[in-house]
Amino acid sequence: MIMKKPLPKLNKPARPWDLLNPKIGRVSEDVKKERLSACESCEFFLKLSRNCIKCGCFMDAKTGLPHASCPVGKWQAVKE
Ligand code: SF4
Repeated sequence: MIMKKPLPKLNKPARPWDLLNPKIGRVSEDVKKERLSACESCEFFLKLSRNCIKCGCFMDAKTGLPHASCPVGKWQAVKE
């Protein structure tokens, strides 16, 4: 009998409505600044609207969510 190893639990991607969920905290100001700094120097960042053309998100909001991550790996999710 072959025992299948359970797959690791994958983090759910951040969704816009996560901003309204009171159970989801926010990252520290330092983490948010670091993330925004990466976005502001990224080729996929639209300066006028401050959103990302890869994920379509508004980065001033998305960078505050702990489980959010950059779609091209420039910054990662953090623990709350
Ligand atoms: S989320 Fe990633 S790809 Fe999008 S603007 Fe920020 S650094 Fe660039």
